[in-house]
Amino acid sequence: MNWQRKAACLGAPPGIFHPSVPPRGDPRQALAYCRRCPVIAECAAEALRTRRGSGIVAGIWLCGDRAWPKLLREIVFGHTARKRCVKCWRIIESASSPGTCSLCGFAEIPV
Ligand code: SF4
Ligand SMILES: [Zn+2]
Repeated sequence: MNWQRKAACLGAPPGIFHPSVPPRGDPRQALAYCRRCPVIAECAAEALRTRRGSGIVAGIWLCGDRAWPKLLREIVFGHTARKRCVKCWRIIESASSPGTCSLCGFAEIPV
């Protein structure tokens, strides 16, 4: 696929996109790639199409984020209002303390 040639993760160590399941796993290395990826919407669409169910895809931790299909759809249609950690870009889940990242404790910002 054409968009994959523009993927920020091209050449990245594939293992980082498959961290252990939460709470042991750490998605931060992979999220750093997705955060600056120019084809994140295309990546999210492909993940929805194939229903790939593990690892980090389009900045979403499929085994760590509840309701990941909904999150991916938001990215595809470009109107996500999810808040993410300033430092690691992890989604701030509503269950967590307001303004605090579950991974590194940093403050949240809207994407
Ligand atoms: S959004 Fe993330 S997983 Fe998808 S192509 Fe870009 S860097 Fe790779
Ligand atoms: Zn964080």
